[in-house]
This record gives sequence, structure tokens and C-alpha cells, in this order.
Amino acid sequence: MSQMMELDLEDAPEVVSVLLPIPAERPYSYSVPEGIQLAPGDFVQVPLGPRKVAAVVWDEPETAGKPVDPKKLRPIEQKFDCPPLALETRKFVDWVAHYTVSSAGMVLRSVLRAPGALDPEIPLDGLRYIGGTPERLTDARRRILEVVSEQEGLAWTKSGLAHAAGTSSSVIDGLVKQDLFEKVLIPAPPVVALPDVDVESVALNPEQSQAADILVQTVRQQKFEAVLLDGVTGSGKTEVYFEAIAEALKQNKQVLILLPEIALTSSFLKRFEERFGAPPAQWHSEIAPKMRERIWRQVATGQVRVVAGARSALFLPFQDLGLIVVDEEHDTAYKQEDRVFYNARDMAVVRASLGNMTCILSSATPSIESRVNGEAGRYKHVKMTNRHGDAVLPDLTTIDMRKDPPARGKFLSPVLMQAMTESLSRGEQALLFLNRRGYAPLTLCRVCGFRFECNNCSAWLVEHRFRNQLQCHHCGHNEQVPEACPNCGTLDHLVACGPGVERLAEEVDEAFPDARIVLLSSDVLGGVARLRLELDAIAKGEADIIIGTQLVAKGHNFPLMTCVGVVDADLGLANGDPRAAERTFQLLSQVTGRAGRAGGKSVGLLQTYSPDHPVISAIASGDREAFYDREIALRKSSGLPPFARLVALIISGTDKREVEAHAKALKLSAPKVDGVMILGPAEAPMALVRGRFRYRLLVHTQKTFDVQAYLRGWIAQGPKERGSLRVQIDVDPQSFL
Ligand code: ADP
Ligand code: ZN
Repeated sequence: MSQMMELDLEDAPEVVSVLLPIPAERPYSYSVPEGIQLAPGDFVQVPLGPRKVAAVVWDEPETAGKPVDPKKLRPIEQKFDCPPLALETRKFVDWVAHYTVSSAGMVLRSVLRAPGALDPEIPLDGLRYIGGTPERLTDARRRILEVVSEQEGLAWTKSGLAHAAGTSSSVIDGLVKQDLFEKVLIPAPPVVALPDVDVESVALNPEQSQAADILVQTVRQQKFEAVLLDGVTGSGKTEVYFEAIAEALKQNKQVLILLPEIALTSSFLKRFEERFGAPPAQWHSEIAPKMRERIWRQVATGQVRVVAGARSALFLPFQDLGLIVVDEEHDTAYKQEDRVFYNARDMAVVRASLGNMTCILSSATPSIESRVNGEAGRYKHVKMTNRHGDAVLPDLTTIDMRKDPPARGKFLSPVLMQAMTESLSRGEQALLFLNRRGYAPLTLCRVCGFRFECNNCSAWLVEHRFRNQLQCHHCGHNEQVPEACPNCGTLDHLVACGPGVERLAEEVDEAFPDARIVLLSSDVLGGVARLRLELDAIAKGEADIIIGTQLVAKGHNFPLMTCVGVVDADLGLANGDPRAAERTFQLLSQVTGRAGRAGGKSVGLLQTYSPDHPVISAIASGDREAFYDREIALRKSSGLPPFARLVALIISGTDKREVEAHAKALKLSAPKVDGVMILGPAEAPMALVRGRFRYRLLVHTQKTFDVQAYLRGWIAQGPKERGSLRVQIDVDPQSFL
């Protein structure tokens, strides 16, 4: 009897835990078929119900729950021929899941974003010249032999060789028939060439050298450190962190550069290529699927050394990452508010600490969080206060719209128009910034007062006059602009209220009939490719007046830009968002920072109805330190982040009463703990989005409180999601809408 038991055990298959990219809290157990060797990190294919899914062998030991009979487990189907996911990336997935109170499986989804990449790249069919001469030596054949003899032993693709020799590929077929070539396989080429650290770099000025030295020293230590590179626009932060990248590459490490609007940063890629002889691999949503797979694979094999990407690049399967740079670290584009809510800036710091490396956070207008960390010594704080070379920061002034109002029905003050005229007369450029897409933010009926609103969202429909449409910017709903009011039926009495960039363009066109005007917003037809062309054209001086939304605020270098006008400086300050002051300061500093980057005098003008507002006057006086001091003190005294922690719970569903009831029940079920304050439920400012009603709860705790454990316990015992009801958890919310 006892002998039989033993035999049984020996026959029992090995069991591994496997994390699947699904919303499950824990890895699942699978049995391992004979002949397959598995270790944590291996990519495998497993059955899940009727499906087969790609997943990763996880570190978790024996199932923590009740033991399962291995023979009842379903077997792993296949181990992929792919380098395993590094331990630090696995730890990172678990860490992000813990911090954001999501399931590890949902975080793993961000890793498994290129399914085809798990198999090796297919080599290309190639030809190699063996030797000999053909029967008939035509001109075309001679050219081919010349080309292949130049680099003996090299394998060619047929089309590559035909191109190099300037012949058709049928000529090559003829030579193959005569056995002058052998067929070989050529490994798939790298997506980008290797970077070269010895390409000549610019000579740094003394302030830059000092900053670069600190960064290089930090990278050299190969241990965790976060550095805040805090330098005014044009101080040369990019040149400085390039030195840190060079150091990491010298150590044979991989490098990740996060950029907020990667799709628009062609100038960044160009600069990188000038410095390192090859561009970085790019990772963002506009990359075609096949290319994504190749990049993912080559990051995993270590062939790709440098990736420049959007926030999702954090989850690429790096083998040996040695440095992360987060450019424009304050940017809200780093916050993902969908499925897993995370801030890529914060997670980059975590990723660096798990992998013992440096994380550089670069910005001209750092987030309050990073400034506080810098001042408290948790981050190294490297400041750069001067623009490089002859470039000086623009003279900033406010235009008091009560004293210098625009003409009736117009939006530009005569003072701003005068400044634009002066810049244009010198052959320079002017930029008008207005963060409002479309023609007008609101359309109403002059007779009955009817306002056009979206049926699915609590939002006005925005008129896009060039397309003759009313559009919702939240769900994308659009409709033709009607001739009659849908409420009272009166014809031709709809009016546009307030300005959007399209309306501004109309005004500028009338006022400056000879100027070449370019309108830049995300509505530009032709997408990113078109925007890149426009931005290049502007940089080359092929436009006089640029009108744009916040797209133009980000990192672009326009050498001829000497006048920047902010059409409505008060716009971002009106809402009750606790970050409104910070956001406005950052955005307006970035926008006005577009001026005067190539030397000479330049101006930034802020149209405002409240010139004495502390944020507006801080920007106008150019005293950024005063702004930070004041804002940090305010956050501290009012117990707001980063001096306390906030977590938002967003309860949504298709039935308003059900949503409200669920939100109330959730609040009631919250464990009472000292120091935990729960505000709400309140109807969200965006009370309806895409047909879903929304309520919000806001949890306020001390910084040191284990809010994740608290939330997990609460959700586990609280009312369950059912039907259309969903509860989303947003730790460290950026948006309160
Ligand atoms: P930031 O990122 O701080 O705004 P950049 O690195 O983009 O600044 O530099 C601003 C401009 O000045 C760029 O065109 C850059 O090429 C130029 N520049 C900065 N430092 C130097 C330098 N040491 N030598 C030559 N050009 C420089
Ligand atoms: Zn809508």
C-alpha cells in the first residue's frame, strides 16, 4: 500500500504557477508536461476555458490555498522560444498591482502587448555568392558580380542585391540557376542601429557640465537614485541627460526614455540620432503592429539598447535596464486613467528602485510632488537657471482685459495685436495659445436659450465649423449643425458662445490678412504625420502666426518665435480642482517658454481678467521659486498631496439610481479607522460619460497609512459590482472630474 502511494507521487506531474493577463488576483496552477523545463519568467501558452492564452510562469510557490491534485490540472501547452521576463520586471508587475489596487493579471496585460513577439523573428531568405563566372557575361550580370565581390561572404536578399546592382531580380535568378549562389538564411535585421557613444557631442556650458557630472556620477554608481533635473526651458536639459544616457550605454545597459507626446517628438529623435549616430526605438500607439512585435522582441533579446516611448514602454521586457529618463515629468499624459490607474512618472521611480538604477525626472516646471521630494532630499535636486547661449527668457506681462478689452465679439486685445504686429514686421513668428478645440465651446439658441448638450455625457457639444459639426469631446458623438433650433424651431438663430481655436483663426485672418496662419490642434486632418510636417515647417519659418491648443506647448523648438500670446490665462483656474494652480502654472510657463529660444528679445503676454491672481502674477513676474514656495506651503496647510494621500473611487453604471445607491452602500461599508476620512459620495463633475452615470468617493489619509490594505479589505467586504455597476480605484488621482 505504502509503495503504491510512493509510485503515485513519482508519477505526479510537476506544477507551476502561471500569471495570466486576465483580471484574476492570483496566478493559476498548471501541470508541466514531460520534456518541458520551466523556470519563473518563462513565457508559456496555456489553456483557459476554450481559449489558449500567452502567459508567464510566476514566482509564487505552491498554491497558497488548498492543495490540488496535479493530475486534475490542465497542462501547459507550449513554452515559447523567448528570453524569460526578468525578475525585476516580475516584481514590478506585482508592485504596480499592489499599489494601484488592481490585479497582477491586468498589469501583466501591459507586458504582453505584442503576442507575435514571443516567437523568434523569421529570418529572411538570402543568397551568398560562391564563386565562378556565368556562361554569358552580360552587363547586368557583371554589375552583380562586382557588387558581391566587393564584400566577400556577405549574404544578400534578392531585392537588396538587385537594388545595389541596379538590375532586375530576374537577372539574379539566372545566376542562381547556374549555381553561382547558395541559398542562406539572413537573421532579421535590427529595428534600429546600435547607438554610438563616441559621436561628437556639443560642448556643454559650465552650468550644464556641472549638472551632467552629477548625473553621470549617479549613473556610474549603479544603484537606485532619483534625480530631479529642474531647469528653465532652453537651459539644455536634453543635452545634459544625453550624457547620462551615454554613461549607461558605456556600461552596456539598456536605456528607457519616457516622453509625454512621443508621436510628436520628431525633433527629439533627430537630436538623439545626431548625438548617438542612430535613433532610439520608438514605442507608442501609432507604431504598426508588426513593428511593435519586432521592437518588443528585440528589447527582450537585448538587441535594442534605447527605447523612447510613451508610458506603456515601462512594461517592455528589458533584459538589463540601467537608466530611465522621464522627460517633462510633470505632464498629465503620464497618468493612465483606464483599467489600471497609474502614473508612469511615479512607477518609473519604482521600476528604477527595483532594478537598482538611476531615474532622471526632467522638467522646467516640476510637479509639486517632485519638488517636495527634491527639497526633502529624497531626490537629488539639480537646478539649471540659465538659458543656453544668447537665448534669454521672454519678458512676461499681463494684459488686463478690463482695461484693454478686445473689440465687440472678438477675443484679442489691441495690446496683444500690437505686439504680434511688431514681431511679424521683423520677420519673426507669433504664437497664440488657447486650450479649446473647435470653433466655440457652446452653441445656444438666441430665441429660447436652448443649449446643445451631449446625450451620453455631461458636456456641451463643441462646434467644429470647418466640418459643420457639433461634437462631444468626451464620447466622440457628433451631429450636423441644424438650421433650426431643435427646441423652439426658430430658423437661423443659433449663436456660438466663447472662442475655440477655429474662431480665433478667423479673427486673426481678418486682422492679419497677409500673414501665413497655421492652426494646430488634435483635430488636424492627417493625424500625427501631418502634425510633424506642420511643426517642421513652422520651425523652418514657413508660417507667421501659429494658433494652437496645448499640443504646441510641449517641447517644440521654434527658433523664430518671439511673441507668445495666451488668449485666456484664467481658463484653467476657474474649476475647483486642487491642482488647478499647478497645472496653470506649468502650462502657461511651457507655452511662454516657446518664445525667444534662439536669442534676442521676446515677449509673452497673458490676457487675464484677474492679473492679481497669485498664479498669474507668479508667472508674469517670472518668479518660479516664489510660486513653488507658496503652492507647497498651501498644500501643506490644507493637508493636500503630497502631504497626505488621496484615493478616488469612481462608481459608474447605466442606471443613475442604482449608481447612487451603490455609492452610498459602499461608503457605509467602509471600515471606520482613525485618520481615514471618506468624502462623498457626490455626483462627479462629469456626471455622465459615454452613457454611464458617475459618482465619486474621495478617501483622505495620512501619508504613512497603508491605504492599499485598507482598500482591499473594504472592497472585499463591501457591496459587490453587479450588472453594469463598476467601481474604479484611482490612487493619487490627477483628475477630479
Ligand atoms: P531644454 O530641454 O532645457 O528646454 P534643450 O536641451 O532643448 O533645453 O536645449 C535648448 C536649445 O539649446 C536646443 O536647441 C539645444 O540644441 C541648444 N543647446 C543647449 N545646450 C547647448 C550647448 N551646450 N551647445 C549648443 N547648443 C546647445
Ligand atoms: Zn458625449
